[in-house]
Amino acid sequence: MRVAFLGLGIMGQSMASNLVKAGHEVTVWNRTPGKLVEGAAVAPTPAAAAQGAEVVWLCVSDTDAVEEVICGKDGAESSLSEGAIIADSSTISPSATLKFAEKVAAKGVAWVDAPMTGSKIGARDGTLVFIVGGAEEHIERLKPLFAAMGKKIFRMGETGKGQATKLAMNLQIAMIYEGFAEALTLATKLGVDSQQLVSLIEATMVRSGVVEYKAPFVLQRDFTPNFPLRLMHKDIRLTLEAAKEARVKLPGLQTVEEIYELATEDGNKDLDYAATLTLLEKWAGVQVKGKAA
Ligand code: NAP
Repeated sequence: MRVAFLGLGIMGQSMASNLVKAGHEVTVWNRTPGKLVEGAAVAPTPAAAAQGAEVVWLCVSDTDAVEEVICGKDGAESSLSEGAIIADSSTISPSATLKFAEKVAAKGVAWVDAPMTGSKIGARDGTLVFIVGGAEEHIERLKPLFAAMGKKIFRMGETGKGQATKLAMNLQIAMIYEGFAEALTLATKLGVDSQQLVSLIEATMVRSGVVEYKAPFVLQRDFTPNFPLRLMHKDIRLTLEAAKEARVKLPGLQTVEEIYELATEDGNKDLDYAATLTLLEKWAGVQVKGKAA
């Protein structure tokens, strides 16, 4: 298929590369020039990338970035023709998604929200899980592209429901990780070995995919970003906004948001969100250590 891929960050670069490897005709664009994907053409603007594309796939930071890349000056919208599909893998506001979808629908362009989970490693290995909102017929057309980048698609309903579900998922990731980080901090302060605590977690009902993924990094004190703290913070804020719009109270997440605020003030925003641990450690006057540390 002819695909324009917009946004070559941690996730987008590998996703676009996997599309090329699967034999699709890919044109890429990135705001900051110089990022390349082997085998893909490079366009100077989103509009130029989208020219003649059947699908425009997006993976940019946030709601404002999606608006700019689609509806802004030289945005993809201006060159899309009837029958094209925009697939958005950025994590953004569900209500803004509906507005963008309505806007492009006037040109006969469909919107599929396709946020994903699987992090940097899932993007690299083509094993992402896509959480999708959109019409069945459009998702069907996108299946060869989903298959090149991921291992599973969950259709959650019409356009917007993918983003809504993604927020409900990240709410859990953020809170499960904070639970783990608080447990590690307390256990360390009380003299318990972190590696042994992790082994116990893994052998009991306390285990979780989040802990399984994060524990090796945390125990080696490797906070290089798989999922940067600033992006998880953005998702927490999006979730709190969506909850406010829907008149739902999320007191646990509200508290976690405060921790992210302080971790950001502490200079951790470009580290992995696992670095919220360092704040808890500072308050407790301890440092969590694993075998490899
Ligand atoms: P990233 O590495 O920070 O990359 C962000 C991309 O967005 C870059 O290409 C950046 O361009 C572009 N961008 C930012 N603001 C822009 C703007 N105003 N106009 C145009 N382009 C703009 O982020 P990422 O980790 O790839 O994440 C991308 C999206 O996927 C986010 O919504 C994130 O929440 C979501 N996500 C990430 C993960 C993960 O583990 N990393 C997992 C699931 C979902 P420049 O190069 O010019 O800065």
